Amino acid sequence: MTNPPADGGPPDPAEALADADTAELQLLDAEALRRLHGEACIRCGEVAGLRPAGYAYTTTGDGTRYGWPVFTCPTHTTA
Ligand SMILES: [Zn+2]
Repeated sequence: MTNPPADGGPPDPAEALADADTAELQLLDAEALRRLHGEACIRCGEVAGLRPAGYAYTTTGDGTRYGWPVFTCPTHTTA
């Protein structure tokens, strides 16, 4: 289906997020949805110590954009 990631880990659509404020996800799997729902760090999936981190955006097939209030763990908190 898709090429395996270089690090050998599971596919990680959220890894493409350079900045949670402007990020876009084209592919939503269960893990990405957990992050978008604020249940885990948008960057790494950590669930402890989450803090608000602005919005991530997803785009549907017809170009509609959705903003999701996302969270980051202490490691990925930049503010
Ligand atoms: Zn993190």
